[in-house]
Amino acid sequence: MGPLRQHVDAEGLVKLASALVAVPTENPPGNEKAVAGILREALAPWHPEWSEVEPSPGRLSLVARVAAGGGTGRRTLVVNGHTDVVPALPERWSRGPFEPTVIDGRLYGRGSADMKGGVAAAICALRTLQAAGSAPACDIVFQFVADEEAGGGLGTRVLWESGLLQGDACLVPEPTSLAVSVAERGLLQGEVVVRGRPGHGSRPREGVSALEGAARVTLALHAADFGDPEHPLLGRPTANIGTLQGGSAVNIVAELARVGFDRRLLPGTSLEESVASLRRRLEEAGVTDVDYEVEVHDFGEGSEMSPDHPFAGLVRRCVASATGREPPTIGMTFTTDARFLRNQAGIPAVVCGPGSIAQAHNVDEWVEVPELVDATAAFAELYRSFV
Ligand SMILES: [Zn+2]
Repeated sequence: MGPLRQHVDAEGLVKLASALVAVPTENPPGNEKAVAGILREALAPWHPEWSEVEPSPGRLSLVARVAAGGGTGRRTLVVNGHTDVVPALPERWSRGPFEPTVIDGRLYGRGSADMKGGVAAAICALRTLQAAGSAPACDIVFQFVADEEAGGGLGTRVLWESGLLQGDACLVPEPTSLAVSVAERGLLQGEVVVRGRPGHGSRPREGVSALEGAARVTLALHAADFGDPEHPLLGRPTANIGTLQGGSAVNIVAELARVGFDRRLLPGTSLEESVASLRRRLEEAGVTDVDYEVEVHDFGEGSEMSPDHPFAGLVRRCVASATGREPPTIGMTFTTDARFLRNQAGIPAVVCGPGSIAQAHNVDEWVEVPELVDATAAFAELYRSFV
């Protein structure tokens, strides 16, 4: 156990995490503004310089710069955490999702793991340093952002467009069980819309069946090998066909069908390239006589930083100092706001926080209180070591 862990005020930490969990910020609709007062109050003792953006009513992202004080030329550490949560579906929960409760060392509630627990740990790390008679070595810019769960378009993306994504390195305390994540897959989701020519059901070959075309598209894409290279942390890109819709009646040759797909991609794959790879795969599979178009519903670019980057090494050492164990270095199969930091702002961003990925978005979501304490001690170590 590192020397800072004993200075973590576990009670205050759980109190802050609980206060954040108790405010429903389900996205949609978001309403992240509702936690702003709690965050402002929690950081008030450090007299931050505040900025905020609110691109649509209630969708507030807060930025707080905490200056280390004394001298100039200090580096800036960005801590980016989202304050929205995914919808709770309360009827399936054992207790109210917005009534945080500690049972057997676990804090339950929507957002306890993803990621209000991580946000609370990042704030309490300042208190921990103070209690230990220490101080941050760097300026710290907290970004409490809206809309991560819906792709960040009203949150971190707006910070980027407003010139507020600046710093020397970034910590994103999303739930990784304190593993150090340096890479994320991107995604492309949408539908292949297949058009046929209607005809009488008694003479199927006189029409062109959109469903027959959709079936061929499905077989060509689902779990298919696109010939992509393998990434050491992210594996190979994947393709899932998750929905299939079409036709209007059994006695009509189907005129229209929609094949819903979800591609998970490697960093560096652009929107254009990812759509082109779908078309290429269909062509290679012999689907050349089907009339189709690709509708894109969502695209998020993958992102990565080198696992050998000094900042990744520093975060590993800080986690090890708190837990006594060297954390694993991982990649994640889904995207977080780290991609805006890595791809748009060019800032090395490590995702590392308390709580398990398995708990994120789940019913009866929880985070281990001892892991919250570990995270707080690790972040405090990071604040005083990032020079
Ligand atoms: Zn999250």
